[in-house]
Amino acid sequence: MPRPISATISLSALTHNLAAVGRGLEAACTRDGRKRPNIWAVIKADAYGHGVRNAVPAFAQADGLAMLDFDEAVLCRDLGWAKPLLLLEGLFEPADVAVLDRYRLASTVHCREQIDILAASKVSRPLDVFVKLNSGMNRLGFAPGQYRDAFGRLQALHERGIVNIVGKMSHFARADDDPEATSRQLALFLEATRGLPGALSLCNSAATLTPTLWPALPADQDQWVRPGICLYGGSPFGGRSAQELGLLPAQTLAAKLISIADLPAGASVGYGYTFTAPAGMRIGVAACGYADGYPRHAGTGTPVTVDGVRTRLLGRVSMDMLMVDLTPVPQARVGSRVVLWGEGGPSVDEVARAAGTIGYELLCAIAPRVPKFAV
Ligand SMILES: *Cc1c(COP(=O)(O)O)cnc(C)c1O
Repeated sequence: MPRPISATISLSALTHNLAAVGRGLEAACTRDGRKRPNIWAVIKADAYGHGVRNAVPAFAQADGLAMLDFDEAVLCRDLGWAKPLLLLEGLFEPADVAVLDRYRLASTVHCREQIDILAASKVSRPLDVFVKLNSGMNRLGFAPGQYRDAFGRLQALHERGIVNIVGKMSHFARADDDPEATSRQLALFLEATRGLPGALSLCNSAATLTPTLWPALPADQDQWVRPGICLYGGSPFGGRSAQELGLLPAQTLAAKLISIADLPAGASVGYGYTFTAPAGMRIGVAACGYADGYPRHAGTGTPVTVDGVRTRLLGRVSMDMLMVDLTPVPQARVGSRVVLWGEGGPSVDEVARAAGTIGYELLCAIAPRVPKFAV
């Protein structure tokens, strides 16, 4: 028998979340009389741990898919995806150009070296590119003072039939928690790209879900938003739950109890004895540990459900197991279902908070040894 742990991926939740994001954009755009942006569904990191093979059919209504691994982009084509695909970090070496060309992949261009590679390349038809501006995050992109020059070099490559410039892009550092910092990035972007042709692509999940940002965007230019986490049912915001945002969890991590014990007062639990029973109590051992991708930093009190009843983790998470408080679940038995996060359990964001991280990290950290089932 396999070890009793698995991750269930809900295709209908993925589809629901994409539709919810689309409806939100539609409503915001109708209100201020602008065109609804196109949606790149971001499926990097194996679709945030949900599996590219699951994401491609579930996101059939997206206008394009965005990722950063070439293998994932090629897999999308092999699975029959015919609409645009965007590589968010663009090409890494000269050999990548042939893959962009063969599979009709759009590329981000964020540095001089990438333009040098393109300038020395031969292609069968021009490659679609989005030119990235560093508007303050200082991760990828041309500095505002270099942007026009880079854009000009790409326009020269357009003359030579090597690229088609389809867009200008940037990325927000604080769309989840600081509207003023985001507005400054946006103003800088609009200034640096003023008058240059092409669509705009700026918004991650947090910005896509913040309609107050929208009036500052030019209504007469095409836009592509790039939501990721919200499509998987995670919240990009510390203070607003996915549920409040109308999103459904797409990944459910569940295991079973493999042992139950009654502890006397004063007995301790797990490595380091970090929890000691104040009185007699019953505990259960679930077949899930940090080698499955559950965060070791989640301590006593982290929410979990057993047979649908909400309870808490006790002591330290070990490699293959964790212990839970069965006080509120007297009917629990060996074999009882334990939901670590997802449908019928705590949200991944709640567990992440208890572990001092974010839902993103947990969703994409599910270990390869955990079998995934799409439903
Ligand atoms: C990951 C990523 C996104 C999606 O971010 P979310 O916060 O998950 O919505 C968008 N754009 C770029 C460039 C990214 O790397």
